[in-house]
Amino acid sequence: MRTPVTIIGAGLGGLVLARVLHVHGIPATVYEAEASATARPQGGMLDIHEHNGQPALREAGLYEEFRALVLEGREATRALAADGTVLFEEADDGTGGRPEVLRGELRRILLESLPTGTVRWGRKLSGVRVLGEGRHGVTFADGTAVTTSLLVGADGAWSRVRPLLSAAVPEYTGTSFVETYLFDADLRHPAAAKAVGGGAMFALAPGKGIQAHRETGGTLHTYVALRRPQEWFTAAGFTDPAAVAQAAVAAPAAAVAGRIAAEFDGWAPELTALITDGETAPVLRPLHTLPAGHRWDRVPGVTLLGDAAHLMIPNGEGANLAMYDGAELGKALAAHPDDTEAALTAYEQAMFSRSAAEAVDAAGLHERMFGADSPHGLIAMFAGAGAGAGVGAERTA
Ligand SMILES: Cc1cc2nc3c(=O)[nH]c(=O)nc-3n(C[C@H](O)[C@H](O)[C@H](O)COP(=O)(O)OP(=O)(O)OC[C@H]3O[C@@H](n4cnc5c(N)ncnc54)[C@H](O)[C@@H]3O)c2cc1C
Repeated sequence: MRTPVTIIGAGLGGLVLARVLHVHGIPATVYEAEASATARPQGGMLDIHEHNGQPALREAGLYEEFRALVLEGREATRALAADGTVLFEEADDGTGGRPEVLRGELRRILLESLPTGTVRWGRKLSGVRVLGEGRHGVTFADGTAVTTSLLVGADGAWSRVRPLLSAAVPEYTGTSFVETYLFDADLRHPAAAKAVGGGAMFALAPGKGIQAHRETGGTLHTYVALRRPQEWFTAAGFTDPAAVAQAAVAAPAAAVAGRIAAEFDGWAPELTALITDGETAPVLRPLHTLPAGHRWDRVPGVTLLGDAAHLMIPNGEGANLAMYDGAELGKALAAHPDDTEAALTAYEQAMFSRSAAEAVDAAGLHERMFGADSPHGLIAMFAGAGAGAGVGAERTA
């Protein structure tokens, strides 16, 4: 009998795994902490890359559905100086190889492609017991429990499955993003809309930056980057950001936005408007990473994928890598129907080396964007490699 696969987490990685297994006739169940598919806004754009995200969607049999979601023109890229001067600009001529889609739409087509009941919502993993011979007993916060002979942690940065394999914990990188949204911007915030242009805009300096992306319907989605200790953000009015993926404001939103904007004193008003004119309360996203090259010794009956395995500083690859991991693990399990351990070994060895290389690239890109030489390193990279190559981190939530 085939191994019943238990996947923790219905992010893009876990869902691609479930779908690829389904394509190969292997049943799987996904347990997700959130109450429903719509419990949390999935907003934000992802650029889906030719070398990892796109092949994963082909493997899932969803490539055509994905192409139908692509938002035309969003690969345009511009870099501005702090005073608003255009330093670099490239239009979207349709050849960029990084088509942009809304994350929530991508998640929707994955969810719709799975048999009804595959995803069990409102099931937050709260504990795991090792039962021997590769079996695990999993308990959920609602008091329910299952036993499985293959447990996959696709549960993101703060994985509860990871401790079965590794003692590594994510560490704060020293940089946080603050997320804001402006709506109907061409009419209501025309100067900011013009500054952002049709796709992505980067205005960077050492230790800080304003990065925005045009989404659907004139929505401008901005990540403000600041290299500051976590206590600084608490003092600026966010709830305690320790060990969380995101923190809300604890003080009036306008006051918090003003405190963040003050870090950009003297910058062009059309850029700081992306902070001060925000129409939703700013959200803090402290950036954490696992050690580059994170790996573990084989433990029977359990593995990880995506951020649970290799959380890295955003470089536009994380969601792409999570989907690729899901597809590769699904293929490996299909190729070794009677030998789960052989499948996991093959999957993990390849995943360890590709994620180690990616983590080094991600750290290098972050330094290029926010290091002492910013923004010149990024502009040189744009000019040399085609705009936006490897710089999608700023495009999603
Ligand atoms: C600010 C920022 C910008 C980014 N921009 C980009 C980008 O432009 N392009 C890109 O490719 N990547 C980007 N990333 C990275 C990307 O978001 C992640 O790498 C990707 O979402 C990882 O996918 P995943 O499936 O591994 O995990 P996740 O998407 O985190 O999904 C994990 C799922 O597990 C669930 N879960 C968690 N704990 C439990 C539990 N105990 N029990 C049950 N379920 C649980 C969660 O609710 C969630 O649904 C960005 C990241 C950040 C922080």
